[in-house]
Amino acid sequence: MQEPTPTMGTVDRLIQELNRLPSIGPKSAQRLAFHLLRTSAEEARRLAEAIMAVKERTRLCSVCCNITDTDPCSICRNEQRDQGLVCIVEQPQDILALEHTGVFHGRYHVLHGAISPTDGIGADNVRIKELMHRLENDQVREIILATNTNMEGETTAMYLTRLITPLNIKVTRLARGLPFGTELEYADDMTLTRAMEGRQEF
Ligand SMILES: [Zn+2]
Repeated sequence: MQEPTPTMGTVDRLIQELNRLPSIGPKSAQRLAFHLLRTSAEEARRLAEAIMAVKERTRLCSVCCNITDTDPCSICRNEQRDQGLVCIVEQPQDILALEHTGVFHGRYHVLHGAISPTDGIGADNVRIKELMHRLENDQVREIILATNTNMEGETTAMYLTRLITPLNIKVTRLARGLPFGTELEYADDMTLTRAMEGRQEF
């Protein structure tokens, strides 16, 4: 992709910048740019300010590494939430998904990635040090590993289990099984095997 240059037209420049965003192809970038051209100056300013605000006002929570405007974040500050139960996720957006279900009332820790030796991402490149530091001081009795169910997520979960088990903290992993709405005949071997292994009393 071409770097925007000062001689490039204003609209072209906007299209190129939008095109850099994930899952925004050239056609979508064009559509968004012309949409923005038609919106009021006020609306465009609100969007620009919202973009600047996430860059300028957010930081990582010093307890759980979630992205937040205030430190500690609202979840870590919430006395109603069980401090002894910590759910480990790869990305801040995973917290949104889990919070949406309303079933979890503990706290979180965000790794900001997963261990991936093939990509050169080791334990030092994700926020494991911060987690271990927290486990030394906080009264945590259970760690729930909610990393993704791909190779990187599994590697990370195994690494953390080895690290945390000696600390006399219970380590659990989110149950793996069939996604809701799955027809058995279309499930892959790995999913079916895990669903069978992880079966629970009904
Ligand atoms: Zn926090």
